[in-house]
Amino acid sequence: MGEGIIIKSPEEIAMMRQAGRVVAAILEHLAKAMQPGITAAELDVMAANELTRWGAMPSFKGYRGFPANLCVSVNEQVVHGIPGDRVLKSGDIVSLDMGAIVGGFHGDAAITVGVGNIDPKARRLLETTEGALTAGISAARSGSRLGDISAAIQAYAESRGFSVVREYVGHGIGRQLHEEPQIPNFGPPGQGSLLRPGMVLALEPMVNAGGWRTKLDSDQWTVVTADGSLSAHFEHTVAITDGEPEVLTH
Ligand code: MG
Repeated sequence: MGEGIIIKSPEEIAMMRQAGRVVAAILEHLAKAMQPGITAAELDVMAANELTRWGAMPSFKGYRGFPANLCVSVNEQVVHGIPGDRVLKSGDIVSLDMGAIVGGFHGDAAITVGVGNIDPKARRLLETTEGALTAGISAARSGSRLGDISAAIQAYAESRGFSVVREYVGHGIGRQLHEEPQIPNFGPPGQGSLLRPGMVLALEPMVNAGGWRTKLDSDQWTVVTADGSLSAHFEHTVAITDGEPEVLTH
């Protein structure tokens, strides 16, 4: 296993760092704009304008026909929500997933943000999902195995009483948005490809307040929880190094 994983040179990782910075800056900008009354479509326009201002291209627009720069997934929506005229209101939790291309390389990240005041269970879901991502990043070390990342994410989320989505997974990233390997957010440690310096991985736990099962909305894009429970999503693009993992999307 692992033959298909592309090792990036230091120069390529430097370019990916730039793409990652653009994604992080735009997500931060959008998070600040996320007030009750704003629509998902308005956030997408802001994302498009910011990408232009940074001299970057959107990773998602046109990808398999996706119509927007940004995925906006609200409450029980897990991922791949198409930004439309839905008005965001206090109490909603909103996942923003965005990718940018700089110098031919992609950066990919996601955050889930509460709009106005959210209830304590939703707050705990957000904290848990971000914590699961942090646990996964901590396991992304040269000499470890891919499964160590998956197991760390799953253990963190489940220890706090939540479940991890299984049908959608993290991925290698570089000149392509989705490269090998696939990185499940669950599974046993000690298995899968050996992690080596120069691998760049988009780690992205999707965590549900209820069960892990999902279904596809009638728009054929938006993924929702099967039981209607809340879902959150955090993602970073991470480079494996000789030492500490390097988060490229901040
Ligand atoms: Mg991704």
